Amino acid sequence: MRVLYLAAEAVPLIKVGGLGDVAGSLPRALRRLPVKPDVRLVIPFHGGTDRSSLKVEPVAAFTLPTTTDTQGVEVFAADVDGLPVYLIAGSMLPPEAPVYAHPREDAYKYTFFSLASLELARVLDWWPDILHANDWHTAPALYAVWLRRRYEAVYGGLSTLLTVHNLPYLGSGAEEALQAFGLPPAEEGDLPKWARHLPLPLGLMSADFVNTVSTGYAREILTPEYGLGLEDFLKRRQDTLFGIINGLDLEQWNPETDPNLPATFHQQNLAPRVENKLALQERVGLPLEAETPLLAMIGRMDHQKGVDIAIEALHDLEDCPWQAVILGKGDAHIEAAATELEKTFPQRVRVRIEYNAPLGNLIYGGADMLLIPSRYEPCGLTQMIAMRYGCVPVARETGGLADTVCDYDRCKDSTGFLFSEPTARSLIFTLRRALTVYGDQRRWKPLQQRGMRRDFSWQRSAEEYYQLYQALLKRKPSDTIER
Ligand code: ADP
Repeated sequence: MRVLYLAAEAVPLIKVGGLGDVAGSLPRALRRLPVKPDVRLVIPFHGGTDRSSLKVEPVAAFTLPTTTDTQGVEVFAADVDGLPVYLIAGSMLPPEAPVYAHPREDAYKYTFFSLASLELARVLDWWPDILHANDWHTAPALYAVWLRRRYEAVYGGLSTLLTVHNLPYLGSGAEEALQAFGLPPAEEGDLPKWARHLPLPLGLMSADFVNTVSTGYAREILTPEYGLGLEDFLKRRQDTLFGIINGLDLEQWNPETDPNLPATFHQQNLAPRVENKLALQERVGLPLEAETPLLAMIGRMDHQKGVDIAIEALHDLEDCPWQAVILGKGDAHIEAAATELEKTFPQRVRVRIEYNAPLGNLIYGGADMLLIPSRYEPCGLTQMIAMRYGCVPVARETGGLADTVCDYDRCKDSTGFLFSEPTARSLIFTLRRALTVYGDQRRWKPLQQRGMRRDFSWQRSAEEYYQLYQALLKRKPSDTIER
C-alpha cells in the first residue's frame, strides 16, 4: 500500500501547532505497523525548517502550470527516522514567509504546494494508492483529483482521504488562488453556495473518505453548533465520515527521559515531580511554594481555546490559594487580558507571551493542573501530554477532550475534571471541585497515576488509519459519489 501524506507542517522539521505533531508522528507510526505500508510525507520547505540533523538533497525540479504562466517547483528529500520526506520549494513558497500568515498569501502558497505534491507523484514515478490530505491547506489536491478523474484514468485509481483537524479554518480568501491554478468554484454537487469556492469545503466534497481527529468531533460537526452551516452537507455523507483520535509520540513526550525536566519521574514515584514545580516557579519568578496548587495553560491564544474564559474565572477565584502560569501567543486582545491578570495578581500569575517548547515541557512536568477551556476542540494534544506528565487536566467537555479525559466524579478510572459550558461560571465550579481533591493528596496522587497509565500511543490510532485505508481501497469506483 502506497500513501502520499500531505501536510502544512510536521515535526521534527517544523511545528506551529498540533497538526505538526500529528503529521510528524502518524506517518512514522504507520510505517512501523507489521504490514509496513509505504507512507511518504510531503511538506513545504518553509524557511524555518530545522534541517540541522538531516541530509536534505534535491530530487526533482519541474514546472506547474497556472492559467497565465508556469511556476517552478524544486523538490528536496530527506530521511526522517526511516520516513521519506519530500520538501517542496518554489517562488510561491518564499523562505521568509511564516508557516501561516495572511489568508491570501497562504492561499497561493498552499494551492501551489497541493498541486506540486500531486505532480511530484507523477514526476517521481511513485504513484500512490491513497492521497491523504490534512486541513484546508492540502484540500486543493483532493479537488484537483476529483476534477481530473473525469478525463484522466490514472486519477480514477487514486483513493482520497481528508483529515479535518479544525473545521472552521475553511481557507477563506482562496478563490483567486484556486482560479489561478485552474481550480474553478464547484458548479455541481450539494455544497452550500457560499462554500463552493473554499478549499476545505471543496476537499470535503471531493474526498472519498473524510475523518476528524476524534469521534466526538465527528459527531459534533453534524450539529448547527459546530457545523458552521456545513452540517446538512456533512450529514448527507455521514456513511463516509469517521473519527480517529490522535496519538502521542511517547518517545518525544516522556517524563522519564525528558531533558527539559530537572527531575525526571515515573508514575510509581511521583515524589521528584515537586522539584520541577519549584524549578518552574523559580524560572518564571513565582514564590517557591511546593503546596500551593499551580495551574497552567499552554496553547494558541485564540478564541477557540477559551483562554479568556479561564482569565475571567481566575479573577473570580481570589478566595482560594493558587498560582497560575500561562504560556501562549496569538490574538492581541487575549494576550492583553492575560497580561492584565498578571498585573492584578503579581504574586500569583506569570504570563509568557511566546512559543517556548522547553518551558512547555517544564510546565507539563511541574504544574498540578492544566486548564483547557476550549470552545471547541477537534482532538487536543495538551490534555494527553498533561496526563502523561502527571498534570491533571481541567477541561471543557467537548470534542477530543471529552473523548480522552474521564471526570473525577463520573468514572471509576477518572483522569481529570470536565466542565460542560464554555463559561467562567462552569469552570469555577469545576476548579473548586479539583482544588478540593488536590487538598487531599491521598486522592490526588492516584488521579495523577491513572492519567499517566493511560495509553495514548500512536499504535492504536495508526491501526485504525490503516483499517480506514483498507476500507478506502475496497470501495468500488461506483462508491465515488458525485457530490
Ligand atoms: P492546536 O489546536 O494548536 O493544534 P493542540 O492541543 O492539538 O492544539 O496542540 C498544541 C501543541 O502545541 C501541543 O504540543 C502544545 O504543547 C504546543 N504548544 C502550543 N502553544 C505553545 C507554546 N506557546 N509554547 C510551547 N508549546 C506550545
